Amino acid sequence: MIEVERLAKIYQIGEQKVTALAGVDFSIDKGEFVAIMGPSGSGKSTLMNLLGCLDLPSSGVYRLENLDIQGLKADQLAEVRNRRIGFVFQNFNLLPRATAQENTELPLLYGRVPNASQIALEALERVGLSHRAKHKPTELSGGERQRVAIARALVNRPAIILADEPTGNLDSITGAEIMKLFHDLNRESVTLILVTHEPEIAQQAKRIIQMRDGKIVSDEINVVMPC
Ligand code: ADP
Ligand code: MG
Repeated sequence: MIEVERLAKIYQIGEQKVTALAGVDFSIDKGEFVAIMGPSGSGKSTLMNLLGCLDLPSSGVYRLENLDIQGLKADQLAEVRNRRIGFVFQNFNLLPRATAQENTELPLLYGRVPNASQIALEALERVGLSHRAKHKPTELSGGERQRVAIARALVNRPAIILADEPTGNLDSITGAEIMKLFHDLNRESVTLILVTHEPEIAQQAKRIIQMRDGKIVSDEINVVMPC
């Protein structure tokens, strides 16, 4: 489903070049649950942005469902991103003035999908939040906000969910509830790629990739995973 070869990202800031990703190779099959770990600054978010088609690599190959991503034009890239990928971020990234339902509807509006509000309500129901549909983010707890973000990620029925430190701002009980949602989705064959620095979160994945200085230093099946 995902294949990357020598994928690299170099940021140029004035005279200075920052190698955020120094050439990584891996592939991820449909239905996998992969955790990406590594110290701050090791390139995890850069990699997630590339996998999520939010940004293009400086060099290397990225094939998503056999599509060569680096060859796409901006509008085609947006289409792939919107249709195939759901994003969940550490800081939830919700629109503050919009209700939970409006936030959830957002990806559908870009695609002019009919019944957007109905689909959004069903997604909120899926994450156990339909009773909060009319609430704004400030009226919701951190865990509820993240559940809205997951509902928003689900409305286009993405094949892949990319989550960058999704439990980083949550207490451990709330984090466990969010992880349960991810496990449920993964059981339905959604491919899950999750960045975390919490070992107890990473241990729930089926495969753990460790990064350091923009490189992959280990990529192993997780033998600790329960059941
Ligand atoms: P992580 O998510 O593992 O903490 P990042 O991918 O955010 O790491 O960052 C990797 C490196 O790239 C860091 O040195 C960071 O400062 C740099 N970097 C990330 N994004 C940018 C950017 N937009 N412009 C310049 N440098 C960046
Ligand atoms: Mg990061």
